[in-house]
Order: sequence, then C-alpha cells, then structure tokens
Amino acid sequence: MDSAQAEQDAWGAMMKAVQPIEMAVQGQALHPRAGDLSYPIFQLQRCTQCKRCTEECPFGSLDEDEKGTPKLNVYRCRRCGICMGACPERIVSFKNYSIDIIASMIKSIEVPEEDEEKPRVLILACENDAYPALDALGQRRLQYDLSVRIIPVRCLRSMNIVWIADALARGFDGVLLLGCKFGEDYQCHFVKGSELAKKRLENVAETLQRLQLETERLRLVEMPINEWGTLPAVIDNFVQKVREIGPNPYKGL
Ligand code: SF4
Ligand code: SF4
Repeated sequence: MDSAQAEQDAWGAMMKAVQPIEMAVQGQALHPRAGDLSYPIFQLQRCTQCKRCTEECPFGSLDEDEKGTPKLNVYRCRRCGICMGACPERIVSFKNYSIDIIASMIKSIEVPEEDEEKPRVLILACENDAYPALDALGQRRLQYDLSVRIIPVRCLRSMNIVWIADALARGFDGVLLLGCKFGEDYQCHFVKGSELAKKRLENVAETLQRLQLETERLRLVEMPINEWGTLPAVIDNFVQKVREIGPNPYKGL
C-alpha cells in the first residue's frame, strides 16, 4: 500500500469506528444494518436449559441463572439472531424477525411442477455482505440464473434448519446459503456467525442423506463483499449443478 492508499484506508477505518464509539459512550451495542430494533424474546416456559444459545452468542450477551436458563443483557446484545438459529426448541424470536416469518416467506414462493422442467433454487443471503453484493449486481444490471429466489437473513447462523427442510419438502431443487467470509481475515459482522452456520450444516447433510436427497442440493458459500463480481458465476454454477442432479423427488408430494 502506498501513502495515498494508506491514507484512504485509514479514513475508511475511522469512519467505521465513529458509530461504535458513539454508541459505546451511550452504553449501548451497535447494529448498523438491522432496521428492527427489538431484542430477542425467549419463551422460557419451554426452555430446556440446553445452553446452546449462551454457548453460541458471539457477544456474551446471555447470562444464565443457576439452572442454566438464559438471561439477556440488552446492552451487550447486537440483535444478530444467532440465539434464534441455535435454539433447538425454536422459542427465540424477534418482533420483526422470526422462524415463522421466514418460513412464511419460503412458503409463498412458487415452485414449478416437475413437468415444467424449471428448477427452483432458494438463496438465503446474509444481509450484511451477501445481500449488498447482490444489490451491487442489480445496480450494474449483471444477470444470473432466473431460477433463484432470494430471502435475506440477519446472519447466516440465525438460520433455522427447519427452513431448509421445509424448502426441500416443498420441492425446491436446491438451497444456496451465502454468508460472510470467516477464518483468519474474517468479515463476518457477528464474528463467527457464518462459521457456526457451516458447522451446523454438517448435521443437515446427514439429514439430507437420510431423506435420500443428494447433499449437493445444499451449498454454503462465503461471499466477501469485495468479491461481489464473482457472484453471478457462483449462482449459475450452483443452479447448473442442481439441473444436472435433476428435479427434487419430493416435488408435488
Ligand atoms: S441476538 Fe445475538 S447478541 Fe443478542 S443474545 Fe442473541 S446471539 Fe447474543
Ligand atoms: S437454546 Fe433454547 S432451549 Fe436451549 S437454553 Fe437457549 S432458549 Fe433454552
């Protein structure tokens, strides 16, 4: 990096830092992209104290009582929804973001019949990097396969496995998950959200095998925002793979 680039980079870093500093002064956490300002709601009557939500919360926002029941600390919570995706009892939700809301969105998507020979592919895209990358394609009028239908999610780890199971049971031919880059140079806004989603997918692959569905019908791709130009090829390659596999046998059942 030369001195002009370094100056530009430093300006960018400073602008990014302004918002968290202002919020920290007020004693609050920052969530720049979520329009929903509600905090997670726990229906604790059905809580089994399994502690998955407290273990997966990247910000240590969930304390526990002596029995292991989660207790939310709102000043640490960044409303990422990872606790919602982690809870096996599905008892965590937000006012404007819940398992039922996304499930209803998936149900409202039209799925062509097998004899129409048109695949239908669901994309669940993290709203932080993958969805803006899709926006960038739209602004430049770049095209990708028309079979896809896109639903933004707050973080890929806020995804509940039931969404994938429902989509495949309804005859979707494939599900593509677009999350942030993880690992050493991670870009995930919630530190390890997309990495946790990938780990969770290993269990889903087993479920697909039990249903005798090809595991290739499901793919997770890390989508760094600066690599948005590669996205049409990522989507087209996945849809092409789904076409080669053939229609989902659960279509029309
Ligand atoms: S929404 Fe995110 S930060 Fe808040 S408690 Fe749940 S996992 Fe933790
Ligand atoms: S993941 Fe769900 S069931 Fe488990 S402790 Fe948290 S709220 Fe309770």
